[in-house]
Amino acid sequence: MEQENEKLYRMRHSLAHLLGGAVKEIWPDAIIATGPAIENGFYYDFDFSTPVTDKDLGKIEQKMRELVKKVKSFNKAEISQKDAEKLFAGNPYKLELIKEYAAEGKVLTTYTSGDFTDLCAGPHIESMDEIKNGAFKLERVAGAYWKGDENNKMLTRIYGLAFSTKEELEAYVKKMEEARARDHKKLGKELGLFVFSELVGPGLPLYTFKGAIVRKEIINYSSELQRGIGYQEVHTPNMNKAELFKVSGHYEKYKESMFKVMSNYSKEEYFLKPMNCPQHTQIYASEGRSYRDLPVRIADSANLYRDEKTGELNGLTRLKCFCQDDGHAFCREDQIKEEFENILGIIKKSLETYKMNYTIRLSLWDPEKPEKYLGGAEVWNKAQKILEDILIDNKIDYIRAVGEAAIYGPKMDIVTKDSIGREWQISTIQLDLIMPERFGLTYTDKDGKVKTPMMVHRAIIGSPERFMGILIEHYAGAFPLWLAPVQVKIIPIRENHNEHGEKIAKELKALGFRIDCDTKDGNMGGKVRDAKNNKIPYTIIIGDKDIEANKISVESRDNGQLGQMDLKDFIEKIKTEKEGRK
Ligand SMILES: [Zn+2]
Ligand SMILES: [Zn+2]
Repeated sequence: MEQENEKLYRMRHSLAHLLGGAVKEIWPDAIIATGPAIENGFYYDFDFSTPVTDKDLGKIEQKMRELVKKVKSFNKAEISQKDAEKLFAGNPYKLELIKEYAAEGKVLTTYTSGDFTDLCAGPHIESMDEIKNGAFKLERVAGAYWKGDENNKMLTRIYGLAFSTKEELEAYVKKMEEARARDHKKLGKELGLFVFSELVGPGLPLYTFKGAIVRKEIINYSSELQRGIGYQEVHTPNMNKAELFKVSGHYEKYKESMFKVMSNYSKEEYFLKPMNCPQHTQIYASEGRSYRDLPVRIADSANLYRDEKTGELNGLTRLKCFCQDDGHAFCREDQIKEEFENILGIIKKSLETYKMNYTIRLSLWDPEKPEKYLGGAEVWNKAQKILEDILIDNKIDYIRAVGEAAIYGPKMDIVTKDSIGREWQISTIQLDLIMPERFGLTYTDKDGKVKTPMMVHRAIIGSPERFMGILIEHYAGAFPLWLAPVQVKIIPIRENHNEHGEKIAKELKALGFRIDCDTKDGNMGGKVRDAKNNKIPYTIIIGDKDIEANKISVESRDNGQLGQMDLKDFIEKIKTEKEGRK
């Protein structure tokens, strides 16, 4: 794999040279800056005297293909600073680099491919045969400041894509097109699910009534699943005194990511909470506990706040305010196995419902660097063995990630794959060997001794808001019935059908379905189109024939025309679909 990556890197980098050569053949006065390999391809920055745009990509690419055939290989030569300055006279970018490299004591080298010579340290491909036909293409033109500094001149950057084979390139392009079409920021707006406001602030979405329904359904499902394995919900404040985070260790390690809250009446330091765990220890600590009371399982969907950098925010997938389907179990050591198995069970069930595959990454400590972790080898080895045995016993696929554990314990990270094959880490189950001790939590064991419980942190799908963003892309906005903000749209053909349509709407609403009966003026074609654009699972058309036959005509978003049917049968159908979260 390493070798493959290295090979691909050299190929991408070599293509950047060919891009430079092609551009110089077409625009001899273009000044070349730099052209590295990047993830999925390469780019080259140019200083053009006339604007070059996406329209020019075709002819540049054509020229590159000619060069792949014509140029045999790259010829390397060492060059003195003086000669290099002579070679690149009139090119301020290369002259700046030559000076820098020389000052660093680097040996300067050039690589020549055909008529094109570039200042470069290599390495490149041995022969142009390594570039497979159709395995690269130019992607787009963008502006880029020299050295990324906005005080410098804006150059023209030409991006290219390159893979080992034509098939890989095509698969990547297809995946990107698919991802763009599914972008949750775009679809979220089209479907009217959430909005951002300059006045409210970045990373703080406002969910419309439609988006709030989807969010709530996700939360309700997680609540139902966790209730099934003994979790009870609590309600907790969004902020607390700094002292709590001093005891938990977050104040020391996490302060930069927390919002500080100031009181008008005291100098006491408060923070908005970035996680629920420290507060939950105080619910545990509020009563004396015996071994018989354990596990104590607490679930919480309070809002959490993280002071993310604005540039790192992204739609719903990176936010400043969100919640989690979060929970903590305080248990005895002999209960860890069952706790983890129960949680893995509901995660499995949940992701099956959402039709997502997943893998588990078992994050372990690095035994070579025990100083990075809290607690000693004995307790770590024991805890890690328990977790790994659970995965083996339950035949769950997992990969081991040595050195990826949290400082306070090993964890299982749940990584899902969406419908177009992208991976998302959604949640973790963590064993915490430390926090209960920090907070002095205890229980009285069978033998009368006072002991420290263990703590399991867990989520099912993680943050419902972030997961909603992932789901919009996963379903391309076409939510299954149970999640859909509007489940059935009723369209009376003419005004005299409105009354009948409204009667059906009333009956369906009374059964708890989310119905939109469109009796507004306007033609039927427009109303049907609106139902399609909003990706509503079912549309009922009401006309004379339906009223006469006392039936409804149903169209399914996913299965097309279902024809006339009794309302009773339709109700039975959507009831089954909703209750089974199909
Ligand atoms: Zn090079
Ligand atoms: Zn936690």
